[in-house]
Amino acid sequence: MSKTIIISNRLPLQLQINNNSLEAIPSVGGLATGMKSVHRDGNGVWVGWPGLTEEEIPEDMQDKVVEACKKEQCVPVNLDQEDVDGFYYGFSNRTIWPLFHYFMEYAEFEKNYWNTYKKVNEKFAEVVLEQLEDGDTVWVHDYQLMLLPQLIKKERPETRIGFFLHIPFPSYEVFRTLPWRKEILKGLLGSDLIGFHTYDYERHFLSSVSRILRHDVNFNEIMLGDRLVTVNSFPMGIDYAKFENAALTNQKQNAKEQSELQRRLDMHLDATPDAKMILSIDRLDYTKGIANRIRAYEYFLENYPQYLEKVRLVMLAVPSRSNVPQYQKLKKEVDELVGRINGKFATVSWTPIWYFYRSMPFDNLIDLYTTCDIALLTPIRDGMNLVAKEYVATRTDKTGVLILSEMTGAAQELNEALLINPNNFEEIAETLKEAIEMPEEEQKQRNSQMQKRLKRYNVEKWSSEFLDALEKTKDKSDMVKAIKIKKTQQQEMMQAFQKSEKRILFLDYDGTLRGFVSDPANAKPDPAILDLVASIQAQEHTKVVIISGRDRDTLGTWWKDVPVTLIAEHGVWKRKSGEDWEITEKIKNDWMPQIRPILETYVDRTPGTFIEEKNYSLAWHYRNADPELGEMRANELSTVIKELASNKDLGVLDGNKVLEIKSGAVNKGKAVAKEIFNKDYSFIFSIGDDWTDEFMFEELPESAYTVKVGLQKTAARFYVEDTDHVRQLLEEFAKN
Ligand code: UDP
Repeated sequence: MSKTIIISNRLPLQLQINNNSLEAIPSVGGLATGMKSVHRDGNGVWVGWPGLTEEEIPEDMQDKVVEACKKEQCVPVNLDQEDVDGFYYGFSNRTIWPLFHYFMEYAEFEKNYWNTYKKVNEKFAEVVLEQLEDGDTVWVHDYQLMLLPQLIKKERPETRIGFFLHIPFPSYEVFRTLPWRKEILKGLLGSDLIGFHTYDYERHFLSSVSRILRHDVNFNEIMLGDRLVTVNSFPMGIDYAKFENAALTNQKQNAKEQSELQRRLDMHLDATPDAKMILSIDRLDYTKGIANRIRAYEYFLENYPQYLEKVRLVMLAVPSRSNVPQYQKLKKEVDELVGRINGKFATVSWTPIWYFYRSMPFDNLIDLYTTCDIALLTPIRDGMNLVAKEYVATRTDKTGVLILSEMTGAAQELNEALLINPNNFEEIAETLKEAIEMPEEEQKQRNSQMQKRLKRYNVEKWSSEFLDALEKTKDKSDMVKAIKIKKTQQQEMMQAFQKSEKRILFLDYDGTLRGFVSDPANAKPDPAILDLVASIQAQEHTKVVIISGRDRDTLGTWWKDVPVTLIAEHGVWKRKSGEDWEITEKIKNDWMPQIRPILETYVDRTPGTFIEEKNYSLAWHYRNADPELGEMRANELSTVIKELASNKDLGVLDGNKVLEIKSGAVNKGKAVAKEIFNKDYSFIFSIGDDWTDEFMFEELPESAYTVKVGLQKTAARFYVEDTDHVRQLLEEFAKN
């Protein structure tokens, strides 16, 4: 039975050594809950680091680690101290974490960190490959393991691999600063499905792929050879029922059952019933905007003195990565700020900030969530922010106000929260006032909307949607494989070719016989391709037609020494070997002076683009433009021309990085139809790479061998990967 292998940096367990025996205690974070149905209830395994370095585990216990983990359906990856320092504290937390959260000044580009990151990703790959069986699905989590998908795909190409990034993916402008940006992107592209929390992270990633690796991105898909990589957003949810139920239980507790923390909170509520409690919970991390929050709170107290002694900020900061210097600095800054503000405003009976620097057990978190009237969460950047969702889920009577930074992924889903810019103190202060004064009715209305959404899209739904989407990528790649020309099909085609006494081959030029170069004027055929085509033409009963969008002069000059038939400008002109060019269609070009100035405005506004003027068409080339801008302008231009041209019988052909405007009466489909009409060819072959070639694939009879170069949506029966494969195929014809 096939299984799912979940991989994350840390295993969902903690190793403990008690009385000379080793135990693995399961820890239940959000991810473990989301994965429960595939991990615990299914026959999944979880691969990751168990949290103790090799040096920390006594030698006589090392063998027992595997056993202890196995009981929890986990497989350990063993790391030594040097690995953890370079891979986790180094590259993950000092390079990727700050960079991906837009703290560029904190990002350290250390070659040693990078080398260890690579080495540890390889260690993970080794363990995963040992576990991997045919039919298994792999789901890799987060920024510590971005090279892993590629490492697995390389060894086991048939394996379905999903990757989810739990932090933001930064904009291209930030990501490009990373010295190992290409390696990271290639590592991720080993996946079949890549998931992000929000559409913004998804589009940043796609933009980096298209700009840095120059791969074509088709909506949310990337074609890599014969592989399709799908990218999508899946906002991670929480275990809603767990938080809701805990809150309900909490409310039913009598004084004896209550925690010490709850008793103290209640004491203060009783003493000052009209005072408001404001809550913040986060790891002590510079991305969380903790210092900003305290300063904004100070600004609030200064500017709205009517609230002195009427509000209290309960701030829980959980210690995190405390051996990284920036975290130590932040700790000092926060300590000082809290001290200063408490010193400045405190009275005998009131302390404006209650500050806890520790982690709290789950029940205490629920005490805080259910007791505090307002949650004030102000990250400068945050991939998601689960605390915001947890706060909303625990408000079972639907009261409470969530103030949330718009820089969090959660803000995309929690529109009914009061959204703030974490750098705008005035706005935060005003919003605090608004939250304090918000009528209960409005609080309930906002929270019930958010609760409905969070309840429906909980963490289980998140993981099942991801895995469903991963499964679906299989159908797509099966489709791709189905039409990739196979050896047997190629042999069958060659036999048909040999048997035939009347053969015709239609060959597109750019992107088929010749790869693309930045200036199309330089894409002359090389001697090898001229010889190859000539030797096919030299065979008996064989007619080769070069059919191109190129103008007749260029095509005529380039192919003057090869006795093939030429069709230029998508079918406007035809030249039989040894004869003059003849016009095949009566077409107009009087529209050109009107359309050309429009194209010129696009050249002016889109650097790297240019116009090619042919006898009966105008082409706007955008291969050398910024890929995103080029696509955007091409769509825009295509719409403009279609609107303008509706009464002019003009067509817009969407080629490979070129838009061609020409009379609607001409296309390659009509040209090939004329060519074969009443001729009884018993072997028809056509090959081409772009949209303009689709007309010919559609027009030819079903028995024709139609071949697309590069995988895109096509009416052709087969496809080959690239121009190198085209040559290999043509060599087979030449051999006969
Ligand atoms: N949390 C916890 N113990 C604490 C404080 C917080 O387990 O003392 C949990 C909290 O319930 C939430 C998570 O830590 O599920 C924080 O997730 P979030 O997405 O808000 O931030 P991250 O730490 O992942 O950046």
